Amino acid sequence: SRTPLMAGNWKMNFNHLQAIAFVQKLAWTLKDVKHDFDDVEVAVFPPFTDIRSVQTITQADNLDVAYGAQDLSEHDSGAYTGDISGDFIATLGARYVLVGHSERRTIHGEGDDVCRAKVNAALRHGLVPVLCVGESLEEREATSNPAEVSIAQLKAGLADVKPGTDIVIAYEPVWAIGTGKVATAEQAQEVCAALRVALAEQLGDETAAATRILYGGSVKPDNVASIMREPDIDGALVGGASLSIEDFSSIIRYRS
Ligand code: 13P
Repeated sequence: SRTPLMAGNWKMNFNHLQAIAFVQKLAWTLKDVKHDFDDVEVAVFPPFTDIRSVQTITQADNLDVAYGAQDLSEHDSGAYTGDISGDFIATLGARYVLVGHSERRTIHGEGDDVCRAKVNAALRHGLVPVLCVGESLEEREATSNPAEVSIAQLKAGLADVKPGTDIVIAYEPVWAIGTGKVATAEQAQEVCAALRVALAEQLGDETAAATRILYGGSVKPDNVASIMREPDIDGALVGGASLSIEDFSSIIRYRS
């Protein structure tokens, strides 16, 4: 069975000092509720400049929170000014890295080929890639199959991945990100189920059954429980609400 993963994508929020304060508070809050979420994995995705501090605090407080980067270079090292290697991220104790978040795809023009190369780079360095897929409003309205765009992005991004590889998929419909327009649980389940079928076609039934598929897009304390009730949704990738201790910790405790 798949351990639910509740992940906070901070995006470009919290400088290094704010990150220290936030994770310390989170550690205190989670200590009090530990018995509630033993069977849930928690992760945060801070900006690159915060990761060292997040590592230090989680180690010092013995805090069971994983962390990852929001992006990585497809290259390992060299003349790539401004880029960050998967090696640097892995050396900071990170477990995960986001690949192909819709803001990378749209603002930075990252297409499927770049995502594929970044997934491969993550795996080369022992990081678990969290491949983000999802359709825009225009794309959803232009087709009778709402999963079509996401399936194409998944197949392209995972083109070189071998069966049995530890990966995570995040379905984030672009029209639900930061808009307050959450997909209904049924809409999210429909696409996540289709993504699991696509995973089975590409990597086999066993890998498809073991791979966690997250939903992201305006996840809040009051809608997380209904989303998590769906059989093919194994967690949430939370943006705005992950910046509030109160909201994020209640999302983590979605069962109570
Ligand atoms: P919001 O939760 O702010 O809609 O952001 C979702 C997201 O993009 C997480 O990666």
